[in-house]
Amino acid sequence: MINVKLIPAFTDNYIFALTLNDGLIAVVDPGEAAPVFAYLKENNLDLSYIILTHHHDDHIGGTEELRAAFPDALVIGHEKDAKRLPPLDEAVKDGDKFTIGDTDFDVIETAGHTIGHICYHLPQEHILFVGDTLFVMGCGRLFEGSAAQMYESLTKLCALDDDTQIYCAHEYSLANATFALHAFPDNEEVKSAHFFVEALCEDGIPTVPTTLKAEKLSNPFLLAKDVDEFAKLRSEKDNF
Ligand SMILES: [Zn+2]
Repeated sequence: MINVKLIPAFTDNYIFALTLNDGLIAVVDPGEAAPVFAYLKENNLDLSYIILTHHHDDHIGGTEELRAAFPDALVIGHEKDAKRLPPLDEAVKDGDKFTIGDTDFDVIETAGHTIGHICYHLPQEHILFVGDTLFVMGCGRLFEGSAAQMYESLTKLCALDDDTQIYCAHEYSLANATFALHAFPDNEEVKSAHFFVEALCEDGIPTVPTTLKAEKLSNPFLLAKDVDEFAKLRSEKDNF
């Protein structure tokens, strides 16, 4: 079992710190360095890997500062987006597999939020780092890709095991749950997920990780029956 620690950053980002089986530390999407430094110092840890899902500043902004402090740390990101990511030590692409320590990572391309977005699936651990592709009861805005691309990307993720733990890079859940209830007012699963999210948020408890099963039942973008319904929901949410 690996350990995943949520490190809050900015107003609603999560950076994830992974302690892998043999004590290697990896961080996913370090948008800023300071909270990562604080976590590493507090736990007396060194950083070995920096793993990036996409090129937005709030996901990569701390990379160079971390690399300066830990020159041996390797930066992993999408080959296709290498020009707009920090310099990559390991460029990966859709379908690639790599191993850190004895933990396997599968790379899944999920165009939509950006064209070069990738997710990282840890099949032995049933863990998925989705960046800004999927959120609790929501999905990423279509900054670069089309609705068809995002729908296809989400469909790919839905093929993973239902018990997959999904680590989303933002705490957008309360706003997403409000929209979900607006879009599916009579859906009992949506109603109960909304209630659950609201209760967690009231107590200041992160709603991340979620599970693929929970999202299939209550996420409006996964409830969409086809790409047209998906596109309609996505544009409604953009103006909600
Ligand atoms: Zn983004």
